[in-house]
Amino acid sequence: MNPPVHLPSPTDDLQSAAHQVLSAVFGYTAFRGQQADIVEQVAAGGDALVLMPTGGGKSLCYQVPAILRHTRGQGVAVVVSPLIALMHDQVGALEEAGVHAAFLNSSQTGEEATRIEREMMSGRLTLLYAAPERLTTPRFLAQLASLHERGLLSMFAIDEAHCVSQWGHDFRSEYLQLSLLHERFPDVPRIALTATADDLTRADIIERLQLQDARVFISSFDRPNIRYLIVEKNGSPREQLLRFIRDDHEGEAGVVYCQSRKKVEETAEFLQAEGLNALPYHAGLDADVRRRHQDRFLREDGLIMVATIAFGMGIDKPDVRFVAHLDLPKNIEAYYQETGRAGRDGAPAEAWMTYGLADVVNQRRMIDESPAGETFKQGQRGKLDALLALAEATDCRRVRLLAYFGEASQPCGNCDNCLNPPATWDATEAARKLLSCIYRFHQRGERFGAGHLIDVLRGKVTDKTKQYGHDSLSTWGVGADLSEQQWRAVLRQLIALGHVAAEGEFSTLALQDSARAVLKGEVEVRLREAEEKKPRGKTTRGGARPKADPALGLDAEGLERFEALKAWRSEVAKEHGLPAYVIFQNTTLAEMARVMPGDLDELGEISGVGAKKLEAYGREILRVLGR
Ligand code: ADP
Ligand code: ZN
Repeated sequence: MNPPVHLPSPTDDLQSAAHQVLSAVFGYTAFRGQQADIVEQVAAGGDALVLMPTGGGKSLCYQVPAILRHTRGQGVAVVVSPLIALMHDQVGALEEAGVHAAFLNSSQTGEEATRIEREMMSGRLTLLYAAPERLTTPRFLAQLASLHERGLLSMFAIDEAHCVSQWGHDFRSEYLQLSLLHERFPDVPRIALTATADDLTRADIIERLQLQDARVFISSFDRPNIRYLIVEKNGSPREQLLRFIRDDHEGEAGVVYCQSRKKVEETAEFLQAEGLNALPYHAGLDADVRRRHQDRFLREDGLIMVATIAFGMGIDKPDVRFVAHLDLPKNIEAYYQETGRAGRDGAPAEAWMTYGLADVVNQRRMIDESPAGETFKQGQRGKLDALLALAEATDCRRVRLLAYFGEASQPCGNCDNCLNPPATWDATEAARKLLSCIYRFHQRGERFGAGHLIDVLRGKVTDKTKQYGHDSLSTWGVGADLSEQQWRAVLRQLIALGHVAAEGEFSTLALQDSARAVLKGEVEVRLREAEEKKPRGKTTRGGARPKADPALGLDAEGLERFEALKAWRSEVAKEHGLPAYVIFQNTTLAEMARVMPGDLDELGEISGVGAKKLEAYGREILRVLGR
């Protein structure tokens, strides 16, 4: 590390040394949550398993111990990270802060790799990022062994540790090999970090990475700045999405998740045609195009990425203001991780999802038709059910989400159900009518999908009802009092609850055993009132929404200064080939604009301004501020 960053001397006690690193290198005044304990555990040579939500501040948990151990002559920390695209920015951010870091991955030339290996082998490097497949090559293991022999292998950090588990949603077989690290270097401290781990995944991580002796740090999974909104699909989900963006997120960065590549492309085109700055991203696109789109998303302000789940792991852009789902994710873990990409900077953000009958049917079918074993499928079905229950819920979404991760909490006041408690209606009678209509079909040896079933219930004459003589059924027209939308909601709920299954290519409906209890009137079915009529606008959502832009709260002149700082930052970022937030985050720039520091000392007090950045940019910033 180069001056001017004044690092603790090896004789300082760990705690104060850790604080010194935090403030000198990163410019922060205090550790958050459990960060201090985690840092101490690892810096002192222990193992740790860290479960912390996205945006919780996992990076510092290994970066600070790595820096501390390096200053004590313990050499290089090796960070396992699955995403090549991200290593570049992470390393860039560290170098900006004055920490000597590098990455090794397949994107480099042999020459570059050799140079970095030399830096590593000399022990000069503080952190080395590498992909898991690189780590377990004989060549790399031999290099690690040589470092270790010389006492220069300071620690291992295993990021996105849930990738080691088949229960998680981004299983990577290379991660299984990581147990090698412990077998070869049992005395080197390890820290494994993840933002997603239910009990099953957690146990899996511990076992597969042999972390039995690690201290486990579980942070609250709550993301209080994220507002959860789940709406029913009406005729045009895309229009719903457009309205959501126009109403509340015009000009802001966001991610829109779709299930298929085709839908990604169509949705991106649709948004572009509406004049929004949107780009597609999915695994079917050329690697170059993908990289370019991801780069633009990270580097430009206010871009919307329309993507499959191929996009996002490890995207640490802090100012994503919304995450929208046009299709139902696989389970709550996936939903939570995807939505968790919003609002890492702690400023208000929204997670919005629209879902409908087709989602339920599709997800169930994907499980049924997958080649996996029956036990696995059973597990998947259970997870889907939990997600459906969340979508259908009429009480606090956050309470349910957190309960899923084993955390008890109080109604949050920051989800759609808390802000606008939905009216519910007793759908028990309707459910019985619907089930008996399917029963009548079964009696005649017939199977139909949702459309025809609802036509019969509503007594709507079509070619098909005539052809089958369904107007003579006892259930013909018994449901004329409900709209098609309401019937879809009833059916969706019945499928979600497992009373009805939608089977085969045409999603024909079949009664399940549990339907009997509903038919007999032993089970109450309550549904949320269809929401479509409610105007969805700021006034219906619990008063004024805190504005997402951290710049707000600035007067007109402050805002002008903020914009000037952003323009300056974007020049610097371009010059350095890094995303703007790596130079300074919006929150930091906004505070500069607000506080108007008069000199370098005052500037250095601002959160996010470390010694290196102060030295490199301080004068420029004061000039931009007109000081
Ligand atoms: P995670 O990897 O857990 O999603 P990050 O490590 O990217 O989270 O941190 C999220 C954001 O919080 C980053 O912008 C980071 O700079 C900031 N942050 C983390 N720890 C602190 C802290 N102690 N004080 C101030 N900001 C912090
Ligand atoms: Zn709530």
